Amino acid sequence: MYLNSNSNINIILITAIAARIILVIRAARIILVIRSVYCTINHRLVVVLCQYSKQKRSTSNNKKVHIICTKSYHMATVSSVSALSICAACGKEEDGDTKLKFCTACKLVKYCSRDCQIAHRSQHKKACKKRAAELRDEALFKEVEPEECPICFLPQPLDNQSTFYSCCGKHICDGCVYAMEMSEGKDLCAFCRTPPTTSIAEEIERTKKLMDKGDAYAHNFLAYSYALGLRGMPQDYQQSFKFYLKAGELGCTEAYYNLGASYENGDGVEIDTKKAKHYWELAAIGGDIHSRHNLGCIEYNAGNYDRSLRFFISAARAGHKASLDKVKNGYMSGLGLVTKEDYESTLRAYHERQKEMKSDARDEAATAYAAAQL
Ligand SMILES: [Zn+2]
Ligand SMILES: [Zn+2]
Ligand SMILES: [Zn+2]
Ligand SMILES: [Zn+2]
Repeated sequence: MYLNSNSNINIILITAIAARIILVIRAARIILVIRSVYCTINHRLVVVLCQYSKQKRSTSNNKKVHIICTKSYHMATVSSVSALSICAACGKEEDGDTKLKFCTACKLVKYCSRDCQIAHRSQHKKACKKRAAELRDEALFKEVEPEECPICFLPQPLDNQSTFYSCCGKHICDGCVYAMEMSEGKDLCAFCRTPPTTSIAEEIERTKKLMDKGDAYAHNFLAYSYALGLRGMPQDYQQSFKFYLKAGELGCTEAYYNLGASYENGDGVEIDTKKAKHYWELAAIGGDIHSRHNLGCIEYNAGNYDRSLRFFISAARAGHKASLDKVKNGYMSGLGLVTKEDYESTLRAYHERQKEMKSDARDEAATAYAAAQL
């Protein structure tokens, strides 16, 4: 009896404890469900606010969201972080005291400090690298507005049919130079009407004055003179590289093209195709057509046919004949490298640009200068 009564008490106790455990588990589940619903609503709110309003969320909310969010919400949080001007690492919000800076490689996220950027690196590295490569390609193949002659406003011809003037730093197309030569002004600069220099020393002095004002083309002009030992300058590759680099930094894509050509040909340096590619890429980003063509050839030789044709198509669309021939070969090969639509559209753009670059004055100049060389 005693034994029986004792065992009954034990059973009651065990049952009571089990009931409590079940209650605790249920309560925990309810808390988890509420937490999950809160997380979902919070994320949705952040994304909606990002898209439709400039209103900022509090830092603490975003921090919490980021900590408890599941993987599927991660990208939404990343885009929200940049759109809402919040440090991607610590969640600090931009205000009068805190200035956030974009990750310069990908422009996807912002940071409040170098330390935060370093702390976030392992998490961000993969997405950053992918986006940075996409951005670089966008820039490499982007259609760039052509440089225009400052007098006739037509796109500059592609084959050195323009002249740099050290008086005003302008590139003037052969058509406008020839028209000036045929007029009463004769030798005057067709743009600023300055008389020509009377000596090489004066030409270099004018160029240096423009360089002091930060003129990119004047830097390129002097660099070229050093590279070839022209205009009284000694042939000095060290000087020419220094001024080509400065010209490129100041926005002269031709200078980067020249640097690439120097590495390709071994002019004053060891032949280095990787460096040639690097400088041609910098020039191509600025819209240099000859560099895009050369990059197409490099990719073609490396067996990257799709990429090479992207370069050829972008150069052909800007009026480059040799690139158009490559695109035509790609289409005619029948290997599907260039579709009929792509070829037709490239051909149309090529003829359009050729038409834009053409003028009676330029045709007359070409005929006259060709005759003078005979
Ligand atoms: Zn931070
Ligand atoms: Zn980045
Ligand atoms: Zn012109
Ligand atoms: Zn001038």
